[in-house]
Amino acid sequence: MEHEMTIDEAAKRAEELRSRLNRWSREYYVEDKPTVEDYVYDQEYAELVAIEEQYPDLITSDSPTQRVGGKVLSGFEKVTHDIPLYSLNDVFSKDELFAFDQRVQKAIGRPVDYCCELKIDGLSVSLRYENGEFVRGATRGDGTVGENITENLKTVRSVPLKLKDAISIEVRGECFMPKKSFVQLNQAREAEGKDIFANPRNAAAGSLRQLDSKITAKRNLDTFLYTVADFGPMKATTQYDALEELEQIGFHTNHEKRLCHSIDEVWSFIEEYHEKRMDLTYEIDGIVIKVNDFSLQDQLGFTVKAPRWATAYKFPPEEVETKIEEIEWTVGRTGVVTPTAIMTPVRVAGTTVSRASLHNGDYIKLKDIRLNDIVRIYKAGDIIPEVAQVVLDQRPADSEPYVLPTHCPICHSELVHLDEEVALRCINPKCPAQIKEGLNHFVSRNAMNIDGLGPRVLAQMYDKQLVTDVADLYKLTEEELLTLDKIKEKSANNILTAIHDSKDNSVERLIFGLGIRHVGSKAAKILAEHFGDLETLSKSDFESIIVLDTIGDTIADSVVTYFSNEEVHDLMSELKQAGVNFEYKGIRSSQIETIDSPFKEKTVVLTGKLTRFTREEAKETIENLGGKVTGSVSKKTDIVVAGEDAGSKLTKAQELGIDVWSEEKMAEALADSHFN
Ligand code: NAD
Repeated sequence: MEHEMTIDEAAKRAEELRSRLNRWSREYYVEDKPTVEDYVYDQEYAELVAIEEQYPDLITSDSPTQRVGGKVLSGFEKVTHDIPLYSLNDVFSKDELFAFDQRVQKAIGRPVDYCCELKIDGLSVSLRYENGEFVRGATRGDGTVGENITENLKTVRSVPLKLKDAISIEVRGECFMPKKSFVQLNQAREAEGKDIFANPRNAAAGSLRQLDSKITAKRNLDTFLYTVADFGPMKATTQYDALEELEQIGFHTNHEKRLCHSIDEVWSFIEEYHEKRMDLTYEIDGIVIKVNDFSLQDQLGFTVKAPRWATAYKFPPEEVETKIEEIEWTVGRTGVVTPTAIMTPVRVAGTTVSRASLHNGDYIKLKDIRLNDIVRIYKAGDIIPEVAQVVLDQRPADSEPYVLPTHCPICHSELVHLDEEVALRCINPKCPAQIKEGLNHFVSRNAMNIDGLGPRVLAQMYDKQLVTDVADLYKLTEEELLTLDKIKEKSANNILTAIHDSKDNSVERLIFGLGIRHVGSKAAKILAEHFGDLETLSKSDFESIIVLDTIGDTIADSVVTYFSNEEVHDLMSELKQAGVNFEYKGIRSSQIETIDSPFKEKTVVLTGKLTRFTREEAKETIENLGGKVTGSVSKKTDIVVAGEDAGSKLTKAQELGIDVWSEEKMAEALADSHFN
């Protein structure tokens, strides 16, 4: 505060802050749709705390400083936490952190040990086990009353449904969405014309608070547990030991932790992880510092919403300013028209950024983004460049609001909004942009995997009308290919061979490649495995599809609609005539028992550069042999395959004493594996 406020001014300002913070909290916790960055919220929150400290009479019961988190969504059963879940007080600087340590030392009378943990950007959950069985999972809610999300949490693979020992315990921790899943989810949502999630935390919250747990199951959530409601059943007497014990009991805990003997050591941990955070596979927004010894924690106790024995150091936002030079609109495979900001290149969080998706017209309007605006950008999930806000005081005087397009930038037909979509859509099925995108999708790696057909080659083929749908690819001749720019005899032959080889693909690739709305590669695999071939799938009705695990109404509906189209059947017969395989060739889950392979039921991590296989190929083969391929090394990993220049994952495997294989050894094992 720049000048000392009078009580009237303070009361007015407090009221303003309260109402804004409460609105932001509702958007953040209840709707999972924040409209401002966390640091904006944090700044105003800190201002309110300062006012309330100076004038305690101004504290009201609806002040966000007196309450934890959000409200319970209707639609979920309420759960009362006998032992409440707390929030954490934040610190934003080294000075504030050291002041926290001073307060602790003053209360205890001597220096203490701290357990430092990463502050996972997810949402708190509480998992209750009775006699070793998972019986109830809940959100934190307002700390005392949360939502019953048991069914949804059961779909999270790291949540054990049964513990090794028949103990009764309530564990607490964070449920989160790994960065990669967040990026994929948002890309898919954008392509489908849906709203995107602002960050992995909101994506995790939105995924856990689904009334249909099939949706949650597809969202790749993970957990890190770090405490229990009541330490009764545990031996640990310190936070550090509790983390180790939780892991022994069978919970996923985060290994990136450290026992620090002084606040200087804590500071080093913070600095170290400020650097390392970009390399983590999940997002963190700070470091949590907890007094290690439980008896000292008891001495320090709690305030209304947070423990006095812990604090969260929040990382400063990594934001930089740049200029919007242009807004480009592109048409996706399903006709969704997406705006991208073309910006003056700047470095942010480790890479140079010059483009950022603006997602949809509403987003541009909401943030009032205009050409030539100076904007602040950051990376959501540490990966995706996003525009945080416009720097209004640098806006040119002659600036005009951005006018959204009304017609498709490619085929010029009128754009529409379908149902409740935020996106603008081109609904002309003959729109060249959509057809070209469809071709790109068909040849892409997870689909038919046809090498040599990049977007430029395909665009030329389409423009020359050599290829107007995917079946035409199989009719291409060498002479036709030679009419394209930069295609010589050799590359023409390679392309023809690649196209020819793709005919033998197992049918899930074709199902995915057809581009049926909502059918991703995983769903395609499930459908292929269950129905066995494309013809059977094409004749299946809604009821016979919906019974499949993880296939929801939307996919089932979309599959039935797709195959009810006459043109699709014409396309299928053309593909069949061309000799494209319609059968499922992969293994079936029921066959796993008969596999003889060293990968059976093993968790494998691939790291470093592989020379004989692409990552995708290695993953697929291992999975077909009954193994599971994951991205990060933990105690649960059985085998780490290390290619050239393997880095931290190899080191970690060695530290944990995990079996490390060379690429050769893997290749031999793959060759030796077979079905009995
Ligand atoms: P918080 O996120 O600041 O910290 C407390 C939470 O940290 C705990 O409840 C727990 O879930 C989590 N946590 C993660 N790792 C942990 C670990 N290792 N040990 C202990 N706890 C760990 O508090 P909060 O009350 O959940 O949320 C407040 C924050 O939410 C604000 O500081 C703000 O940044 C954000 N917020 C943003 C908006 C917005 O509009 N952008 C609105 C409301 C709140």
